[in-house]
Amino acid sequence: MQTGNIFIVAAPSGAGKTTLVSALLAADSNVRLSVSYTTRAPREGERHGTDYHFVSRDEFVAMIGRGEFLEHAEVYGNFYGTSERWIREQLAKGQDILLEIDWQGAQQVRKLFPQAISVFVLPPSLETLERRLRGRAKDSEDAIQRRMQSAQEEIRHVDEYDYVIVNEYIDEAVRDIISLVRAARLRIASQMERHTTLIAELKG
Ligand code: 5GP
Repeated sequence: MQTGNIFIVAAPSGAGKTTLVSALLAADSNVRLSVSYTTRAPREGERHGTDYHFVSRDEFVAMIGRGEFLEHAEVYGNFYGTSERWIREQLAKGQDILLEIDWQGAQQVRKLFPQAISVFVLPPSLETLERRLRGRAKDSEDAIQRRMQSAQEEIRHVDEYDYVIVNEYIDEAVRDIISLVRAARLRIASQMERHTTLIAELKG
């Protein structure tokens, strides 16, 4: 059985990552989203088990102790982590998986899986980023400035990624991410596993 691909998608908040990832998942049923564990409180409309597995700090720390995370990190004062067992099960089934994690998590996953394909989603300008952050919630000016700074901190890691998608026009960005996933499946290592017999026969 063919091993699945690991896709890491990172972006500062306000880049439109959620919309992009939802469109990819709807278009490509072979990609499954990893549902992370977090100690942050659920936001309105978020569902346990779908958006995140919401757990207490004590529970999270116990999971770290039991070595249950593939990677984990503290982001804006909350813990986030990816379940190792789920990932390994999916990969063994030949399922492609997508991780929506921050740069710290991406660094840890690359060490474990150097073949992981990482993508960074950028907003088309600082002005657009700010407009999107302002449009999202009625935050105070201070909170917006803090979110802008966090976004820029994340963006400073952009050159650690394999691919960059500038999300100016969502339709185009969706086409970009779908193409990227398809191209990854066509890499020689994957194709050699998928078409072992055919390639051997054709070589003669
Ligand atoms: P939010 O709280 O807005 O859903 O996510 C905040 C940040 O945490 C985002 O940058 C998101 O990518 C990151 N994040 C979400 N899940 C994980 C995870 O499992 N591991 C790591 N390292 N970061 C995560």
